[in-house]
Amino acid sequence: MTAAHFDLTGKVAIVTGGNGGIGLGMALGLAQAGAAVAIVGRNEAKSMAAITELRAGGARAISVTTDVTDKTAVAAMVARTLGELGRIDILVNNAGINIRKPPHALELAEWESVMKTNLTSAFLCSQAVHPAMKQAGGGKIINIGSMMSIFGASFAPAYAASKGGIVQFTRSCAVAWAADNIQANAVLPGWIDTDLTKRAREQIDGLHDKVLARTPAARWGVTADFAGIAVFLASPASDFVTGTAIPVDGGFSIMG
Ligand code: NDP
Repeated sequence: MTAAHFDLTGKVAIVTGGNGGIGLGMALGLAQAGAAVAIVGRNEAKSMAAITELRAGGARAISVTTDVTDKTAVAAMVARTLGELGRIDILVNNAGINIRKPPHALELAEWESVMKTNLTSAFLCSQAVHPAMKQAGGGKIINIGSMMSIFGASFAPAYAASKGGIVQFTRSCAVAWAADNIQANAVLPGWIDTDLTKRAREQIDGLHDKVLARTPAARWGVTADFAGIAVFLASPASDFVTGTAIPVDGGFSIMG
């Protein structure tokens, strides 16, 4: 195994939710390995800051402001990426939200909003990039799940359902598109210090210390922890890895 196995020079990646948090951590890793990156999010100012950071590291990067729950907008985002960057080799389906309520209190509109953002968006984006990847002779799809792809969550039923669904959607694409040389894998983050969990920490007493106590690595994850797994799953190093769901959680999921 040499550095060539992890070289993404000439490759193009789309990262949804790549303007902050885990998505930006992955985008920075992909860019450092040589990929050009399209950052996809709704907040234009955040996306501009992200592409400035990527470009400062020498990467080719564009921002494509898009709501990934909107099929027409997703098609336009893929067309613009192809138009400006020329190809699509890597798709990271990372955009996500959570609404913290137990099942008996969750409104239908809230359920649908979480499912659309976390799961339907992965379907829309994967379907939209499939023709370009197939035509190019292959591709890599990386879907972001969660510990709640494995465990239930009394306070996040739609989130857990969407993240469980991500794993089965990943496996389905892995099987359906294996003949097109497309590998699809899921990454399951543990507790990571981002805007998403900042809100949870404000709402749940003692969450910070509970996570430390339960995590063998004895720390919260940071967004830089996702650079390496992104490069691995996007590169030739993982060409015989497909349909998996890999925890990146400091050991959280192995604790009884
Ligand atoms: P952040 O809140 O920092 O990032 C979420 C990203 O999703 C933002 O960049 C946001 O961009 C984007 N996004 C949300 N809705 C849409 C939409 N409709 N269209 C386009 N982009 C959208 O959270 P994290 O980095 O923590 O989360 C990233 C992923 O990791 C999520 O899927 C989350 O569920 C998952 N995860 C996170 C964990 C953690 O501990 N942090 C644990 C397990 C999983 P914008 O603001 O521009 O819309």
